[in-house]
Amino acid sequence: MENEISGATTLYCLLGYPARHSISPRMHNTAFAALSLDCRYLAFEVAPEDLTAAVQGLRALGAGGFNLTMPHKNAVLPLLDQLSEAAALSGSVNTVVNENGKLIGHTTDGIGVVRALQESGFSPAGKRITLLGGGGAAESVLTQLALEDVAEVSVFKRNNATFQKTADFAKKVESHTGTAVTIRPMEDTTVLADTLRSSDLLINATNVGMAPQEGISLVPPDALFPELFVADLIYHPAETKLLADAKTLGCPVMNGLPMLLHQGAEAFRIWTEKEMPLDLVKKAIHQ
Ligand code: NAP
Repeated sequence: MENEISGATTLYCLLGYPARHSISPRMHNTAFAALSLDCRYLAFEVAPEDLTAAVQGLRALGAGGFNLTMPHKNAVLPLLDQLSEAAALSGSVNTVVNENGKLIGHTTDGIGVVRALQESGFSPAGKRITLLGGGGAAESVLTQLALEDVAEVSVFKRNNATFQKTADFAKKVESHTGTAVTIRPMEDTTVLADTLRSSDLLINATNVGMAPQEGISLVPPDALFPELFVADLIYHPAETKLLADAKTLGCPVMNGLPMLLHQGAEAFRIWTEKEMPLDLVKKAIHQ
């Protein structure tokens, strides 16, 4: 039988809580089958208190690697042997590769966004970027953009209990990479509009635009202009209010699906040193 599980099949998997909704098994198994690799990818629902045992188990079983999603991206760090530069800087890991028993952590979320932008014809190097949000996705994206030598990143985040934590993180990224990073309260919409006027790219890395905050945008439509590239990390719905407003004004837009695909493709490359067959995987996702 084609691509049959053998005595030597290598295990890859996702650890998340929840994890059952994930499209990663479809992505990776499609790619493994297309390249005739004797590998399988499964999704495991692992509660926070079981993460240590799960990682120890995967190490003992000789799994080829694994992905992490909420709520494990930060908690996994002390369980690993080595971190990539971006993973160490962002304090977040979504991909682990097992290199002869050594577990090495990477973060491919930021690279996913950069690759997706490049595929859409936008090269971030030297550009001025406005980033909305200070959560896990925003931190990964900020880290990678700063490592890509963008001119400047202006982060807008709610002025609440976590504002200082995000400000401290922004300072750390700035001093490590030399890329200018500023952080401002999102409530100041005049400053947001002024900053956007001199930006090349706007990225929404907040939950605003997806359920239960669907149909809402944090950016007034009159702050957008056709030369601004507008990206939203949300992929469900496929078109958020922000992207609909931007499209109406003639801005180039991108939703979160290409990022999802490219973060997976980067994990696949780290594990197999092969390129994921993107067209085939895109088709499988859309089914
Ligand atoms: P998270 O850690 O929970 O962070 C959520 C962020 O949204 C926080 O900064 C939060 O602000 C902000 N936020 C939520 N409601 C807000 C509101 N009403 N006004 C202003 N800001 C608000 O989540 P995450 O993991 O970073 O994910 C963020 C988004 O990225 C989600 O929509 C997720 O689906 C998407 N994402 C996409 C991909 C992909 O592959 N395409 C990957 C990862 C994430 P505070 O900091 O003030 O609380």
